[in-house]
Amino acid sequence: MAYRRPRTKGADLRAFESFAADLKPEFLQCRDTMHHRERYHTGWDEKAKCLFRVLRCSVCGSEWEQRCDRNGYIVSTTPRYAPGYLREGQGRAPVGARAILRLEQFERDMSPVSPQATKAKPNGNSKRKRKAA
Ligand SMILES: [Zn+2]
Repeated sequence: MAYRRPRTKGADLRAFESFAADLKPEFLQCRDTMHHRERYHTGWDEKAKCLFRVLRCSVCGSEWEQRCDRNGYIVSTTPRYAPGYLREGQGRAPVGARAILRLEQFERDMSPVSPQATKAKPNGNSKRKRKAA
């Protein structure tokens, strides 16, 4: 099956395709479908007089430290991405990057050896033989 790549061309997109192809599965999942943030640590910063909490992604391990005022409004959020999540030294992702990441995820999910590809067969037409119950 052939996939259509975004129409934007250029070395930056090709470099991003290469980056996407080499991403660890957990990083690709988070870049494609967003992080699964969970509360990891919560407290009161006596020196700064503010509430803070650390949210951690259960998939890739990236963290975000949020600082909130007494009314619950977020004053700052400081991300700490897991090593390998970002494209170091290459600036922002180019236009079309999200589509590239999505297609990379589809390609991996639909490869013959992918567990997702075997689960996603429509109409139950799997060629795998079932064990007798
Ligand atoms: Zn994540």
